[in-house]
Amino acid sequence: MTHRAMNFNAGPAGLPLEALEETREALLDLDHTGIGVLEHSHRGAAYERVHQEAQGHLRALLGLDEAWSVLLLQGGASQVFATLPMNFLKPGQRALYAVTGGWGEKALEEAQRLGDAVDVTPMAKQYRRIPAAAEHRVEAGAAYLHFTSNNTLEGTQYDAFPTGGGAPVVCDMSSDILWRPTDLSGLSMVYAGAQKNIGPSGLVVVLVRRDWLAEARRDIATIFRFATHDANGSLYNTPNTFAVYLTRCILRNLLRDGGLAEAERRNRAKAARLYSALDAEAGFYTLPVERPHRSAMNVVWRLGSPELDARFVKEAEREGMFGLKGHRSTGGIRASLYNAVTLGDVEALAQFVTAFARRNG
Ligand SMILES: *Cc1c(COP(=O)(O)O)cnc(C)c1O
Repeated sequence: MTHRAMNFNAGPAGLPLEALEETREALLDLDHTGIGVLEHSHRGAAYERVHQEAQGHLRALLGLDEAWSVLLLQGGASQVFATLPMNFLKPGQRALYAVTGGWGEKALEEAQRLGDAVDVTPMAKQYRRIPAAAEHRVEAGAAYLHFTSNNTLEGTQYDAFPTGGGAPVVCDMSSDILWRPTDLSGLSMVYAGAQKNIGPSGLVVVLVRRDWLAEARRDIATIFRFATHDANGSLYNTPNTFAVYLTRCILRNLLRDGGLAEAERRNRAKAARLYSALDAEAGFYTLPVERPHRSAMNVVWRLGSPELDARFVKEAEREGMFGLKGHRSTGGIRASLYNAVTLGDVEALAQFVTAFARRNG
């Protein structure tokens, strides 16, 4: 069998082997058509079925009816940082941003290029916590409130979502979409770059309420209007057919294997195992995030010095564990425990965490 390392990368991240193997076959021959998935027309029946199945699986997993548009777009989450205000921030309006981490900072910066946008969560910018609902200073009449459900860099995660005080609420769910059953009824739009917790890069999922879409600006480039893609079933222009195919396989297997309830059970067990190994060696490892706000997806910690951090990463690699180096902006160690990471991989990492502390503490 192909050698597969234990992969704790933050994104692009590890992908489920079964879906990769199926995609390897489809690369040469999609569904016995004699044409590979990369070679099919996006206007043909073979690809269209894949495309619609991917959208349907997202609807099934998240319980979305036809009031929601399910878009499969290119450009990534960073592009949505710009297209969100292009579509929904009108002159004379103000957009609210709950900035709880580095990605939220970038989202706010893009909105400020286009119009009036402010941070409504004044908090210490080491980002060790998630503000309480009442700390979000929402104001009446805002264009929308934007927040990041899981801070990929800092390792913090919302439990209950904030409310917009009447304004539509938009969530960047790039690093924790599909980690558990999620009630989206309080939100008007959700977006997620696929390469964290869904599938491959080159695809961004945008879920948006059609009634809000009807209010969006029309005076922007056609390609950047979410309404364009809604009207064309995300086939206005050529989509990333390969990424959609792989995503279709991953989502179908997720549904088959118990859906998001089962994903949550596994994800909680993984996070609990790793955090408890780290907490048990609290004198040796430092966990910066306040306990109630710890992310189940991105676990961050540091050792006594950058040199010791580097040694941890290097020795972990010798044992087959990769992707543990913290983000360049934060340093330290980060283990990303997305849906595709197995409990077995986390068990191996937890045991290494314990052994490394005993050897070096
Ligand atoms: C990775 C990430 C992004 C950026 O995604 P791209 O697809 O690379 O643009 C934005 N927001 C969050 C929360 C992320 O984790």
